[in-house]
Amino acid sequence: MSRAAGAVRALVLGAPASGKGTVSSRIVRKYQLQHVASGDRLRHHIMTGTKFGTQVKAYLDEGKLVPDDLVIKFMLDELARVEGSWLLDGFPRTAVQAEQLWKLQPVDFAINLNVPFDVIVDRVKGRWVHLPSGRVYNIDFNAPKVPGKDDETGEDLVQRPDDKPEAVMKRLQIYKEMTEPLIDFYNKLGILEEFKGSTTDEIWPQVVQFLDVKLKQ
Ligand code: ATP
Ligand code: MG
Repeated sequence: MSRAAGAVRALVLGAPASGKGTVSSRIVRKYQLQHVASGDRLRHHIMTGTKFGTQVKAYLDEGKLVPDDLVIKFMLDELARVEGSWLLDGFPRTAVQAEQLWKLQPVDFAINLNVPFDVIVDRVKGRWVHLPSGRVYNIDFNAPKVPGKDDETGEDLVQRPDDKPEAVMKRLQIYKEMTEPLIDFYNKLGILEEFKGSTTDEIWPQVVQFLDVKLKQ
């Protein structure tokens, strides 16, 4: 896997529903990176009924992590097919994933979204997604123009099975245990940038300020 001249490699870290998907969509639109979201890509396989999709479905439905060996191979294959700059969202999520990624595709910087846990739990309750694109809405603060419909395509929005309260608690617990330590992993490498806030709108201007300098626009 070689790197094209000037290509940027970045990733977004954050708890479930911390706004990774929303912030990532805004970043890739504004700075022309490719969005590589593990959750979206896994859900796509489930939705289209591939063999891989049937292998991973139960993990997603229950809010558990897909085993490292499966998800690492899958995501590194996906990345190998992306040309130019990319932004990873949702991968890596464990120390083993981060180490494997660093070995094969060292990233330039890692963005951490620091959102209070109580805010996250509340937020998941109002979340609706457009599955084909991964666009995320929230009926409390980022409602679609037409209730239940995607702004761009007019297609139906759905609530994810893993946004049920039991699954959300499970995901937060797994995040604390497995993924939060990655903040330290990237901090020690000197490439961590942290952004704090309760909403994406609070966080977004800070991200823009950082990326305008970092990506020299
Ligand atoms: P949000 O979409 O709000 O950021 P999230 O981060 O929990 O929430 P996704 O990133 O969409 O959700 O991931 C959904 C599910 O997909 C996870 O709960 C897990 O089952 C699986 N998954 C995604 N990425 C990984 C990964 N890197 N390692 C293991 N499992 C993963
Ligand atoms: Mg996501």
